[in-house]
Amino acid sequence: MKHTTAPFTLRCIESGVLYEPSEVRYRSDSGGLLEVVHNLEALDADTLRTLWDDRLKTLGGVNGSGVWRYRELIIPVEEKAAITMNEGSTSLYRSEQVSAFTTVERLTLKHEGQNPTGSFKDRGMVAGVTAARLLGQTSVACASTGNTSASLASYASAAGMRGLVFIPAGGIALGKLAQALAYGASVIQIDGNFDDAMRLVQEVCSERAVYLLNSINPFRIEGQKSIGFEILHELRWQVPDWIVVPGGNLGNSSAIFKGLAELLAIGVIDRMPRIAVCQAAGAAPLYAGYLERFAGPPRTVENPETLATAIKIGSPVSWPKCVKAIRESKGVVTSVTDQEIMRAKRAVDGAGIGAEPASCASVAGLKKLVDEGVIGRQDRVTCVLTGHVLKDTDAVLREHAPGGSIEGLPVCAPTLAGVQDAVERAIHGEDR
Ligand SMILES: *Cc1c(COP(=O)(O)O)cnc(C)c1O
Repeated sequence: MKHTTAPFTLRCIESGVLYEPSEVRYRSDSGGLLEVVHNLEALDADTLRTLWDDRLKTLGGVNGSGVWRYRELIIPVEEKAAITMNEGSTSLYRSEQVSAFTTVERLTLKHEGQNPTGSFKDRGMVAGVTAARLLGQTSVACASTGNTSASLASYASAAGMRGLVFIPAGGIALGKLAQALAYGASVIQIDGNFDDAMRLVQEVCSERAVYLLNSINPFRIEGQKSIGFEILHELRWQVPDWIVVPGGNLGNSSAIFKGLAELLAIGVIDRMPRIAVCQAAGAAPLYAGYLERFAGPPRTVENPETLATAIKIGSPVSWPKCVKAIRESKGVVTSVTDQEIMRAKRAVDGAGIGAEPASCASVAGLKKLVDEGVIGRQDRVTCVLTGHVLKDTDAVLREHAPGGSIEGLPVCAPTLAGVQDAVERAIHGEDR
């Protein structure tokens, strides 16, 4: 591949067959998922730590990006060839309220909703769109439960490419659809669910000169690894006991594991955190597989149902990569009901942090795993909050407005007498 500074290859995760990264391909000849293989022997822990610390001091630009800061392990791209919108560098919060809710004192929350388009998808997308440009592509496409389409739309426009997004009609939160339209992508609505959209976009990309940017794309996974890099960097490379993430298509959990396994191999960290994946009960094929110790073929859920639309996926693409992450990190999988997700969301939102429903599956899952004794109250835990609270305002209104919609919110007369009752209730904390 042109404009890169170090060699890397693509490898089939099943057969081990290697492919040139300059070739446009998403699967091996035998149909297996591909992964990027970096030359880890050429990298040295002390050199990397110093380099990454130095780049932390940079404001803006490629070195200021929370993805390209770690580019030796993402795509070793020349500075001038990297696209960036200043993604990453998100906050790692501590919150007494969320600690009280989960009963885990040493809890940190990595708020990926602070990315340019409001979700962690920007980290994978910036790598994917940069790869698309290195490969000479001019059109890019994805299927999406919402956030991937918002992200693709933004990065494609920033890079001067055509963006196509396939979405299940009526199946994504309105704010995300609005982003895709606003950033200038062509929105193709499918009368079906996410899994239908995913199947179709793969067919379209295999027939037309359109580059596929779902998380089946190995470069998207490389970009998403930077969530784990940033968490560990901010923790001064002191490895937490657990990293807890929501699971939908399973790209994120796979990516965090792959990145940390590389850090471990190089010696930047000295052990692996355990990874906990939290699925919504109505869309929990991985959890079903986990219960049978992944003995059989990948499980699917025919008609996934959950109000956490970002993880409403019945046939996750990155299944084998995630199974490896669970096995090799001694990880666990759990499932949480929509009610548990919304209870966790109340805690996260009420702490002044805020996140969309799917994000709060991680906090709900943590609480459940602590109650079950799987995660200890003394353990050091990082939960990933994957998306911004504004991504799904309907979910907020359903929880907080009488009758579940904006019409249910009371309106006062524009006089002091008119607001009197509401002010009294507010002061006495009765409107909560
Ligand atoms: C995409 C997404 C997820 C799920 O991540 P996967 O990599 O598909 O498992 C969770 N939360 C939010 C907000 C998302 O956008």
